[in-house]
Amino acid sequence: MTIDTLDGLLEEQLKDLYDAEKQLTKALPKMAKAAKDPELKTAFTDHLEQTKGQVSRIEHVFELLEKKAKSKPCAAMKGIVEEGQETIQEDASDEMKDCMLIASAQRAEHYEIAAYGTVRTIAEILGNQEVADLLQQTLEEEEQTDAKLSEISERMLNASNDSGEVEEEEEDEGELEDDEENGEEEEEEE
Ligand code: FE
Ligand code: FE
Ligand code: FE
Repeated sequence: MTIDTLDGLLEEQLKDLYDAEKQLTKALPKMAKAAKDPELKTAFTDHLEQTKGQVSRIEHVFELLEKKAKSKPCAAMKGIVEEGQETIQEDASDEMKDCMLIASAQRAEHYEIAAYGTVRTIAEILGNQEVADLLQQTLEEEEQTDAKLSEISERMLNASNDSGEVEEEEEDEGELEDDEENGEEEEEEE
């Protein structure tokens, strides 16, 4: 059927998201199982529960739109989930594995953030504030999850930094002047 209205567009976009979320309810338990860091494990488990709620929320949105809740295979999420599976099987230290799991998970979250932004805006333009609010709610959950994953990732990356130097922005560089090498300027070799 030709999609030639915003209603049709919204429905088409929601079908993709419905499938993407359902894929994630299957992938997240595996990610949680593979994660070694307790905080990361909890983040995945928490987001699994949230994701189940997001699936129900999309079903509620279909109801409000008086459409059947149908899904359309989301090839992108399938690929992202496959990469996550590859990561789980990768030969890597616990710490590096966790960092790779986060990298995979954040790809999934960013896909969702993009997609929910789109459907929220379509609903808003259609004047369906109730649906827009529901989609906005999920969007915020995805953003919070992404932020949480960034926080855990930064902690783990810093802890794994071989040089042991935690790079932080220095506000007062004046005190470090004694350590400066006299007049020697760094040159980049080509
Ligand atoms: Fe989600
Ligand atoms: Fe998709
Ligand atoms: Fe998510």
